[in-house]
Amino acid sequence: INYAEVIAFGFDKTGTMTGVRFRDTAPDGKDREYSVTADELVCAAGPYTDLVLGLDRRAAEDGRRLIRPSKGVHLVFRKSVTRGKAVVVPVGRNILTFLVPLMDDYVMMGTTDTDYPVRDYHDLDFIPVTEEDVRYNLDVLDIIFPRVFKKHDILACYSGVRPLANPGQNGASGISESDTSRTHGIRRLKSGLWVITGGKFTTFRLMAEQMTDSILNALREKGLKSGARICSTADKTLHGCPESFTFPEERNRWLEEGAGSLEKRSGLPREILRHLLESYGSCAENVVSLAEGGSGLGQPVGSDRTWIMAEIKYAAEREMCLTLSDFLVRRTQLRFVEHQGLDVAEKTADALGNYLDWSPDMKTKQIDEYCNYIEKVWRGNA
Ligand SMILES: Cc1cc2nc3c(=O)[nH]c(=O)nc-3n(C[C@H](O)[C@H](O)[C@H](O)COP(=O)(O)OP(=O)(O)OC[C@H]3O[C@@H](n4cnc5c(N)ncnc54)[C@H](O)[C@@H]3O)c2cc1C
Repeated sequence: INYAEVIAFGFDKTGTMTGVRFRDTAPDGKDREYSVTADELVCAAGPYTDLVLGLDRRAAEDGRRLIRPSKGVHLVFRKSVTRGKAVVVPVGRNILTFLVPLMDDYVMMGTTDTDYPVRDYHDLDFIPVTEEDVRYNLDVLDIIFPRVFKKHDILACYSGVRPLANPGQNGASGISESDTSRTHGIRRLKSGLWVITGGKFTTFRLMAEQMTDSILNALREKGLKSGARICSTADKTLHGCPESFTFPEERNRWLEEGAGSLEKRSGLPREILRHLLESYGSCAENVVSLAEGGSGLGQPVGSDRTWIMAEIKYAAEREMCLTLSDFLVRRTQLRFVEHQGLDVAEKTADALGNYLDWSPDMKTKQIDEYCNYIEKVWRGNA
């Protein structure tokens, strides 16, 4: 469930956690509150973990911080210096710099790795990119590609906080940020709450599998029947993954053939069809069908021709997109290209607002919130 913020925990007389109270923070959710109970509860709140546990002293274990939040900053450029390849360059002990191609002609590079104290929720609302972060990344780039990347070339910055598992008591471990392990850990607190910490994007399926197995075991020990004995997702393909697809050998052939057949059917430009196939996999057909439906849905969202209006409809109807930021930041990469989505914010809000039934006030609020977000993180030349 998206936009469902846990605000309190429920306990039985023995102090065992039995459920949560949460608030519907979606734009049309009116902040309504609900309670749910469950046989087993898991906290998978990433960098928010200690804040969530801090909601009730009965949930946390001895007040020990489980997360060592570490800030990372990436810069985005429109330069194809790595010719479409990902490049990893060691720049110090356990410090790597990545240059990762983004779409066809952008490159995302990074990253910094610095402790980022998180004391309340607002600390994670906007994670600002500082001049120091930018300078560090540019200095590293200058070593790898002398005089190629300049500050005025930066199109967008991305900043985030890694939920590293805390190696010591409240961060005072003597271990540097970059030496702190990226592996994940699963533990059960005295309250019965499971907490999963650490990990990476690249390990999320393994993390989910191990967490699920722990829960199934716990249910069995309680004598509660559960249909499955172990998590069985390891062999399942992700949503949109084409059948019998070998990466990377068959990827290009699949993209070319797919774009060719969709081009005959829809008449949409080939580069847009390639983009749709890369973004939605086998579900690209559904977006193309919307575009074929007319009403300008095959038209680009902005001057950059990559994204089309049908994607806004698809996001609203099929991808639980509820806010302007959902679309510009989390469903597409418009936030990472020229102008960071500010140039298409109004047009996108108009279309999204139609599908989601926004009032004029709601539309203005969504645009203001998005502009405010970009302004506070890093406006740069946008
Ligand atoms: C700059 C940077 C670069 C990175 N690069 C890589 C990389 O190259 N490769 C890689 O594998 N990993 C990378 N990572 C790490 C990866 O992004 C994280 O490990 C991963 O996103 C963590 O996922 P998570 O689900 O644990 O946390 P999150 O994705 O942060 O999810 C936590 C969720 O908890 C929700 N939440 C918080 N409070 C509440 C509440 N009270 N009620 C309900 N929900 C709540 C939040 O809304 C959020 O959706 C990078 C991270 C950063 C910051």
